[in-house]
Amino acid sequence: MCHDCSAGTAAPLGAPAASRRSFARFLAAGAGLTVLAACTPEAPAQVPPSSASASATSHPPVTPTPTPESTTAAPAPEAAAPAAPSPTPSPSAALPRQFSLTDPDSPWLIVNKHRPLVPADYVPADLVRPSIAMTASGEASLLNSTTAAAAEAMFAAAARDGVAMVLASGYRSYATQVATYNGYVAARGQADADTASARPGHSEHQTGWAFDIADGNGACGFQPCFADQPSAVWAKANAHRFGFVVRYPWMFHPVTGYYYEPWHLRYIGVEAATDMANRGVNTVEEYFGVEAAPGYP
Ligand SMILES: [Zn+2]
Repeated sequence: MCHDCSAGTAAPLGAPAASRRSFARFLAAGAGLTVLAACTPEAPAQVPPSSASASATSHPPVTPTPTPESTTAAPAPEAAAPAAPSPTPSPSAALPRQFSLTDPDSPWLIVNKHRPLVPADYVPADLVRPSIAMTASGEASLLNSTTAAAAEAMFAAAARDGVAMVLASGYRSYATQVATYNGYVAARGQADADTASARPGHSEHQTGWAFDIADGNGACGFQPCFADQPSAVWAKANAHRFGFVVRYPWMFHPVTGYYYEPWHLRYIGVEAATDMANRGVNTVEEYFGVEAAPGYP
């Protein structure tokens, strides 16, 4: 799982311009020690992306319920800043429509190791089973209605490009996450479990806004080598057009708290996902201007 180690401290992280003050702070705070700590235990520093192990386990399966979008107003970006030292507005502030970052029903909800779901046992009210190819069953075959519709459009577009994408794991209830996480803790200890499985109430899979994809032939499912499979390559290049982002990109675990997961897609809406892609912003933490979450507080 230490895909990132091979790349060393290379750059995407260190490069950000001065304007991205908050992001630079994340890096300063989390990059160094966190990267080492995260990489040391599970894989030799030079292990290439293809030898990660924990990542594969991070997505266990799952039973259902729904979720709409919420339009909680957000701050206006261009607030003419007087003399007062105002913080750099997040890139997302430039979008015309703003959504809540904390409401579970909002497409901009940010859940990570610093931002648990509230309530912790949240269940989307509009879970549905999308009409797409899938290997997932039971609750894991469900997504909230907005995400399901976007997934149907994306899978159809991928198919037109000759890419056989399948849904490997969607919604995961709080109860399932409890069982999954406890299973990891029992088998590997809590420290290791925290690198592989979200703690209950901290998984994007519980929101209905995220899911894991796989290739139709199952190659490299939940493994680092999935990054080179057709579905992952296609998704990385096109998912934003349907409102999705690859939530845990390569080298950004000091920000997201998770190693590279080329299979984990998160819906944030076409406008935001496209804007992120156009700006070259890699994480929702940076895009929406929240602190990095390399680990649990
Ligand atoms: Zn996932």
